[in-house]
Amino acid sequence: MIDDDLHPDSVAVHAGRDDLDGLGVHALPLDLSSTSPLPDLLAGGESYEVMAGGGRPTAAGGNVYARLWNPTVARFEQALARLERAEAAVAFASGMAAFAATLLATSHDSGRRHVLAVRPLYGGTDHLLASGLLGTEVTYCDATEVAARVRPDTALVVVETPANPTLELVDLRALVAAAGDVPVLVDNTFATPVLQNPLDHGAALVLHSATKYLGGHGDVVGGVVACDEARAEGLRRVRAVTGGVLHPLGAYLLHRGLATLPVRVRAQQAGAQQVAAWLGEHPAVRRVFYPGLDASGLVGRQMRGPGAMVAVDLHGGHAQAARLTSAVRLFTHAVSLGGVDSLVQHPAGLTHRPVAEHARPAEGVVRLSIGLEDPLDLIADLDRALAGASRTGPPARRETALA
Ligand SMILES: *Cc1c(COP(=O)(O)O)cnc(C)c1O
Repeated sequence: MIDDDLHPDSVAVHAGRDDLDGLGVHALPLDLSSTSPLPDLLAGGESYEVMAGGGRPTAAGGNVYARLWNPTVARFEQALARLERAEAAVAFASGMAAFAATLLATSHDSGRRHVLAVRPLYGGTDHLLASGLLGTEVTYCDATEVAARVRPDTALVVVETPANPTLELVDLRALVAAAGDVPVLVDNTFATPVLQNPLDHGAALVLHSATKYLGGHGDVVGGVVACDEARAEGLRRVRAVTGGVLHPLGAYLLHRGLATLPVRVRAQQAGAQQVAAWLGEHPAVRRVFYPGLDASGLVGRQMRGPGAMVAVDLHGGHAQAARLTSAVRLFTHAVSLGGVDSLVQHPAGLTHRPVAEHARPAEGVVRLSIGLEDPLDLIADLDRALAGASRTGPPARRETALA
């Protein structure tokens, strides 16, 4: 067992590897077995039953079947739990599978069906809640309205900070106090455990789309929830019976990537700070959205840094956003975020398309995920693309023309 007083960077390198010496290996093992040999019928059956109820496999009965337990996935979960300073973590096939399981487990275990959701949220999350597909009923609200909107049948408060796509920050301590005895789920995808640990601020559950920064290389789709062991049991039970498990290859890549997560996030953040400052001076830019420009003091108190996601609202609206996203060369025009290479996308037209129109980001908003390229190259790319995009005249006239 590694020391509990290690700094987070050391935890990122060593967590979830406690059993490797005993196995006689140094690198993470990848176990692709879909089934496991059963030691004997009784013990195997007992382990199966424990895991179907959300427990961990019994030593005598083994893992039984990979929908119930996989050691490669379990190592990643252990590592992520340590990074989020949680008792446990449960990994899923995607961030949305993780969110769906959280809704099912929380509403089932509490017998409550109402969810209070603080906008803005990731478009898929917003859409799943609005659809009521999983039997929940949603009220959308502002962070300041939570205390007034909590009902006796509220099962969960859902919040994202920084929020997707316009990077609003929510004071988690104040939100948790306002939620009273209702558990708060924080989507920590944008901040990563490197910059923010919501459980330290009173949240009950932390969710990541592992597809983004945790993976960091654009080659894994996955999701994970960190929480206490009792809630983890509820999540594992849903996962065991509904089947949204993370593939062991995905878990292997995610765990491997965790070692460099702190270094990647800090380097990407340093680039983002430069890009955000440059964008703030550009005449085509009406507004820069970046937690580094937030005056609330939450960066420093709640977050250890402003992160590597930046958004801008362009004077030229949709047309300019469309020209920018097709003119960039070093940035890839694609949804997703958090990887080593920079991406650009238009939230209103893509990630936030399913959100109700009045709650959708403005048409001039473009979201940038800053990667590990030299920030000067990224700035040169944006400069070229914005120059091409602003050929139609000065900002004020473009706005009128597009209104
Ligand atoms: C991408 C994303 C999700 C959904 O995760 P998937 O892995 O795509 O299912 C949830 N929340 C946020 C903030 C995201 O960016």
